[in-house]
Amino acid sequence: TTTNNTSQATMQLKRKELDGYVGFANLPNQVYRKAVKKGFEFTLMVVGESGLGKSTLINSMFLSDIYNQDQYPGPSMRIKKTVAVESTKVLLKENGVNLTLTVVDTPGFGDAVDNSNCWAPIIDFVESKCEEYLTAESRVHRKAIPDTRVHSCLYFIAPSGHGLKPLDVEFMQRLCDKVNIIPVIAKADTMTPEEIQLFKKQILNEIAQHKIKIYDFPDPLEDDEEVKVLKQLKNRVPFAVVGANTVIEVDGKKVRGRRYPWGIAEVENLEHCDFIALRNMVIRTHLQDLKDITNSVHYENYRCRKLAGLGSDGKVRLSNKNPLAQMEEEKREHDLKMKKMEAEMEQVFEMKVKEKKQKLKDSEQELTRRHDDRKKALDQQIRELEERRRAFEQEKKEWEESNNITLDELRRRSLEANSK
Ligand code: GDP
Repeated sequence: TTTNNTSQATMQLKRKELDGYVGFANLPNQVYRKAVKKGFEFTLMVVGESGLGKSTLINSMFLSDIYNQDQYPGPSMRIKKTVAVESTKVLLKENGVNLTLTVVDTPGFGDAVDNSNCWAPIIDFVESKCEEYLTAESRVHRKAIPDTRVHSCLYFIAPSGHGLKPLDVEFMQRLCDKVNIIPVIAKADTMTPEEIQLFKKQILNEIAQHKIKIYDFPDPLEDDEEVKVLKQLKNRVPFAVVGANTVIEVDGKKVRGRRYPWGIAEVENLEHCDFIALRNMVIRTHLQDLKDITNSVHYENYRCRKLAGLGSDGKVRLSNKNPLAQMEEEKREHDLKMKKMEAEMEQVFEMKVKEKKQKLKDSEQELTRRHDDRKKALDQQIRELEERRRAFEQEKKEWEESNNITLDELRRRSLEANSK
């Protein structure tokens, strides 16, 4: 009966004809207005070996021309080296639509002799943003959570002509299940168009071979002119880009580019490089899809890993053990800690005893020394007294001899005289 009822309901729904205009055709407009009111947030990250022009590209892409529409910064060729993960936020407004764009520049890797773990700060950053979002989602009040998750990551490949380096492969493998990777070939002005075509093919092959999941642009549904353009853009992956923070005059027009003795590489010329294609895809045509994939795939992966108690490497963390084993483990840890503390206390006690003993010994020595000094002083005094006594005896003797009378005799005579 339930099935019957459902099918009846469906049939009724199918048959329902509207007599007049109800107004739900306006629904998309409601969504549109709400979205415009809320504004958009997007975070783009650049990753790659040091010196590949990441900072320059970001600068070319959004920053300087956002601050100074007509006035590019002077020909300061070298941007300072990025040494830590740096976020820059810019507010863009176009036709009343607000976009808060966060650009994350990361320190270039590959400089050190030992490059193991050079992905750690980048992966940590991506995960910390997911963690922030997860924490915000788990709060009692979770209205309007700011979305600071990294929505896409431009991965810079060196224009070596020799495919990916082992470090690139490892890096992308580690990163590709955490963020949307868009591979770009850096400094495309250093290769000829034919070399770039070959290099692109080689890179795509290697990406497939190493099972790296780069951001897959969804196929457009319809087949009108705009869709064709989109397809052409998609065919440009990996985007070969040129960055420059200098402005050059070409035929009286100011363009951003790089001047060489043999010509000019224009950043915003699709015949020279894929810069515009990349910027259009990231901001104009696929921003929402990048955000959707971040939310439905990468963030979901993170949530699963987190809630299942797995680490970022997919390995089981301690908290995922069964409770008894965990208690046992904790008890063992506690015992170890206690033992360590006991040993430390014993050590401190021994040290204190040693100190006290040393102090006693010192004061004993001091006392002996003082006693000896005193004894020496007394002996000296005795010796001096003895000396004086002898001198006196000598003097007395000499006097008695010179006067021919002893002192005793003299005393006796005077006593007699007194008694008379
Ligand atoms: P980062 O370490 O990847 O951020 O690289 P930087 O943006 O600091 O750039 C390193 C050097 O490469 C600077 O001297 C830039 O002027 C130069 N550079 C940047 N982009 C390009 C480019 O597209 N082509 C060429 N030939 N040089 C570039």
